[in-house]
Amino acid sequence: MRCPYCGHSQDRVVDSRELADGAQVRRRRECLACGRRYTTYERIEESPALVVKRDGRREPYNRAKVIGGLVRACEKRPVSMADMEAMADQVEAAINRKNNREISSREIGEILMEELRRRDQVAYVRFASVYRRFEDPEEFHRELERLRNFGA
Ligand SMILES: [Zn+2]
Repeated sequence: MRCPYCGHSQDRVVDSRELADGAQVRRRRECLACGRRYTTYERIEESPALVVKRDGRREPYNRAKVIGGLVRACEKRPVSMADMEAMADQVEAAINRKNNREISSREIGEILMEELRRRDQVAYVRFASVYRRFEDPEEFHRELERLRNFGA
């Protein structure tokens, strides 16, 4: 790996951890030139998956798009990049449980909302507001009422 700080191509692995039931390995590396540390992820290359939109159109599943949505929802919140990677892993685990490698956009939204709800209420509400605006405004309104009753 090329060091993102100085460009040197030799490093040593200082920590290695399996994620998502062993489907992914996260490694902490230390550059042998500048000594700074960075993280790499290694995962099994899988056949592509499709996302089924509400109108029935399909598009290729895109992990970067999932992470991008999470980064926006979690802006200035105490949610780490590793947490967001773990949430995307949950979506991919759901895809892997399917025989046809298709997942609905609704299902992806539900998984991410469930994950965010457990980690950060503000990020959850932001994500849900964007997601549910197109889904069911009444449902979103009820969700906000429910959160308010819990003092969120
Ligand atoms: Zn370096």
